This record gives sequence, structure tokens and C-alpha cells, in this order.
Amino acid sequence: MTLSQADYIIETRGLTKEFNGFTAVRDVSLKIRRGTIHALIGPNGAGKSTMFNLVTRFLPATAGSILFNGQEITHTAPEQVARRGLVRSFQISAVFAGLTVRDNVRIALQRPTGLTYRFWKPETSLHHLHDRVSALLAEVDLLEYADRPAGELSYGRKRALELATTLALDPEMLLLDEPMAGLGVEDIARTSALIKRAAASRTVLMVEHNLSVVESLSDVITVLTRGEVLLEGRYAEVANHPAVIEAYLGVAHA
Ligand code: ADP
Ligand code: MG
Repeated sequence: MTLSQADYIIETRGLTKEFNGFTAVRDVSLKIRRGTIHALIGPNGAGKSTMFNLVTRFLPATAGSILFNGQEITHTAPEQVARRGLVRSFQISAVFAGLTVRDNVRIALQRPTGLTYRFWKPETSLHHLHDRVSALLAEVDLLEYADRPAGELSYGRKRALELATTLALDPEMLLLDEPMAGLGVEDIARTSALIKRAAASRTVLMVEHNLSVVESLSDVITVLTRGEVLLEGRYAEVANHPAVIEAYLGVAHA
């Protein structure tokens, strides 16, 4: 199967980021296929978070270009990028501990910056705010906690709430930076299922250290080391590569 340009939601070309002469990301040309879960892995300091910051325009690139849906966004303002549907989880969302779970999602939906206004156009008025909040809570399995103060949620469920407030922006593409960080085994299983569900109608780019999560969720994996792409492929193609084993042993024993 040959893929055309239109099959890719994100394409970076020669993306480079220098911090005071130190090259954190070097000449990265990455293509993300629409509708996939694409994982970015690599040891600490490899440049994964910097890549996220470049793609979401939180950081200006030193060189190279970024295309989203075939349109160049290399110089587009980060709010504009988010409004177009490229959203980094936890970038805008914050959990208000004193408010109920439902009110947290309601506020996220009423945020004036997102795409959310389209729900209030007359032609979509079938979707009342309350229904939309409930649908989002159901999507992350929090409906039964709707009337609890968000501060009472477990850490894992707070992360699910953050995901709901991110999904409130109706992103076409979701970037998740270490979604399993700090979660216990049970929460990891639950969060994996939520990500899989969210990815059914979206594209996901995910940085994740937990390789069994990467294995079970990802369609494609790109390995970064020292700011450069080392290799890319399916889990089985990537995981047994000596450089990956070495890189991950390096992390595991750090
Ligand atoms: P990763 O997410 O893969 O662990 P990062 O993208 O956070 O790696 O960092 C890549 C490299 O760039 C690291 O060496 C880090 O110290 C450096 N770096 C990241 N952000 C900055 C910054 N704002 N200023 C200077 N150096 C930075
Ligand atoms: Mg990082």
C-alpha cells in the first residue's frame, strides 16, 4: 500500500531545536498517519517533550517546518493550532478541586478559546450542554462521580477528568506526554482503555515510558535518541533492536 500526503495528519520536515547552542531536536522528519496511535519513545533527554512543544507551537523551531493536515503551521500561534484541532492533553486543562466533576467539564466546554462554540450553533442545538457534559463523563467512565468534588477523586480518576476536559475541545489530534506517569497498575489498565476509546475517532501521538502500554496501544513507534530519529516501525520491529534495548536498559537502570 502506498500512502499519499493526505494520509498524514502531521508531517515535520527537518525539524530542529537548539537551546543556546545545544541541539535538543535535530533534523526530525516525522509523519503521523491519520487515525493511528503513534508512540514516541526514547531515553530521558532524547527530545520527546521538545518535539511535543515544537509541534504544538509552544516552542519556536530553530529550523525545519511542521504541517498539520497539509497546511504549514510552523509559525502559527499555539492557540490557533489548538483551535484547529491539534491539542496537547493537560496543556489547557486544570482540575478545579473545589468544583464538582461535572462542573469541571462544563467549564471546559464553555471555554471561549476552543472549538466548542460550534455546539451552540442552532443546527446542533439538539446537544444541550448537560448532555454534552454527560457524554464526555461517560467517555472517560466518570459519570458515577459527576456530583463529587473533583478534589476527592483518586489520582488516576483526576487524570481521566483531565482527559475529559481536553476532549471537550473536540481535538482531531491528541498529544499525550507520559499519560501513565505516576499511575498504579489498575489505573494504567483503565487509562489505556480510555486512550484506546478516545483514539477511535482521533489521531494520538503519545510519549510513554511503559513499554507494555506502548506495545498494546501503538500502531507505529518512533524511537528518538539524542534528538534524532533512531528507527521507526511496529512494536515487534522496534523492540528487539539492540539500540532500543540498550537505550531502555539505560533508562531502567538510571
Ligand atoms: P525528553 O522529553 O525526551 O526526556 P526533552 O525534550 O525534555 O527530553 O529534553 C531534550 C534535551 O533538551 C535535554 O537535554 C534537555 O535538558 C534539553 N532542554 C529541554 N528543554 C530545554 C530548555 N527550555 N532549555 C534548555 N535545554 C532544554
Ligand atoms: Mg519528556
